[in-house]
Amino acid sequence: MDGTGCDKIHYIMQYEAVIGLEVHAELATQTKMFCGCRVVDTTTSRPNSSVCPVCAGMPGTLPVLNRRAVEYGVRVALALECEVNHTSIFARKNYFYPDLPKGYQISQYEQPLAENGRLVIDTSEGERVIRVRRAHLEEDTGKLTHITDDGGDCSLVDLNRAGVPLLEIVSEPDMHSVEEVRAYATGLRAILRALGVNSGNMEKGVMRFEANVSIRPAGSDQLGTRVEIKNLNSFRAMERAIAYELARQASLLENGETVSQETLGWDEPNQRTYVQRSKEEAHDYRYFPEPDIPPLAVEADWIAQIRQRMPELPRDKTRRLQQQYGLIPADAAILTSESDIAAYFEDCAAALKQASARSAANWITGELFAHLNSTGAEITHIRVSPQSLAELLDIIEAGGINQNTAKTVLAEMLASGSSAQQVISEKGLAQVTDTGFISDLVKEVLTTNQKELASYLAGKETLANWFFGQVMSAAGGKASPAVLKEELEKQLTEARRG
Ligand code: ADP
Ligand code: MG
Ligand code: ZN
Repeated sequence: MDGTGCDKIHYIMQYEAVIGLEVHAELATQTKMFCGCRVVDTTTSRPNSSVCPVCAGMPGTLPVLNRRAVEYGVRVALALECEVNHTSIFARKNYFYPDLPKGYQISQYEQPLAENGRLVIDTSEGERVIRVRRAHLEEDTGKLTHITDDGGDCSLVDLNRAGVPLLEIVSEPDMHSVEEVRAYATGLRAILRALGVNSGNMEKGVMRFEANVSIRPAGSDQLGTRVEIKNLNSFRAMERAIAYELARQASLLENGETVSQETLGWDEPNQRTYVQRSKEEAHDYRYFPEPDIPPLAVEADWIAQIRQRMPELPRDKTRRLQQQYGLIPADAAILTSESDIAAYFEDCAAALKQASARSAANWITGELFAHLNSTGAEITHIRVSPQSLAELLDIIEAGGINQNTAKTVLAEMLASGSSAQQVISEKGLAQVTDTGFISDLVKEVLTTNQKELASYLAGKETLANWFFGQVMSAAGGKASPAVLKEELEKQLTEARRG
């Protein structure tokens, strides 16, 4: 059985998928959650280079809460329309693992930072509201690397990540398809990035997912037994793992068996889930209030200040771009996927004198994106400013150059940093609109291609395009397409009259 094909269609008909997501997002603070150690890129930094007695879990040390981490958490909570609790409590979650030197993780349990939020997502079946149960602060663990050395297996511990602030965002089991999960996870990622609290860089592991998955007979309102799939660190892995689980559970029920409540891992090479352990319960962790950190009070006026400084959220921005600039939804969505790109677009649109904002959207999502993709450059680092692109678009609009020439001009602008006008005059690319000149070229092409003209007159109408191309190339690609078309039609009509 695999996660696709007939099995999937089968469960869709008889069963409903029920999925809840737990998202761990690192908060992009300068320093760690409870000490002054810098947060470093754990994929490139020297192991254990950013560690102190506090985050190494030495006895007798005392944690001091990072105010910025709380602020970032509140930002996310507000974006998700949560109630921020006036008082929240840090708790010790006790378990043993080599990447957790203290033997417990400082987290929040009974009174989290925030509760009862929602995220609106767009799916092929319209808008859906996914409720957010809670968002709580905690610290990340270290990282283990398993290697084989001198014939023996060993594990290396790197504590650079230990104590990095995390926000865990827990949804209600409100998602019913892989598509909804994808929309929720990407929507959440977009919000975190827009808020500047997380880079969204999945390869760096700054966002990790755990999916809780169950199925139930279609129409039932009771929850089925769930499994929890741990450590999904890409969208792709998450989607595959969920699809696989849904199919596996459906086939169990189909055969009269039951789903057992377990914690699973995702086996990427073999594309299947495997049992890590039977499900742990909250009491296994012996949560109790952290004695070294007083209750966290988040005052209303601080929340108000944070709210005032909130940037426009991605979905609002997408809506606004559609309305304000008359963009189609797809373009608006692409342009708002990154705030730098949206800013580039808006700066360009503001500088336009004649051309439409829609044309700016087309050129940015077309030519400019192609350039970004092929060079790997960031939009903030290219040599064409939004104003400079606007100038180019205005020249096109005024008929100064045609679309094709404009692509050449833009490529040159990107390479040299010159303005559109500079490139056009230096390379002699200005569009030819001189009717007399173009008319002569048309005449010349028709006379030198008598055979084609004869077939055209005999009814092979498509040759008109061919003639167009011939004249355009005789003009070095610079003829105004509109003038050329008009002249060509005129002369072909004359020829037809004989
Ligand atoms: P824990 O994983 O710590 O036991 P919870 O019981 O609060 O925590 O549930 C965690 C996640 O599992 C939440 O996202 C919740 O929506 C989801 N969930 C709970 N029950 C089910 C279920 N029967 N099917 C799918 N998801 C579920
Ligand atoms: Mg869980
Ligand atoms: Zn430290």
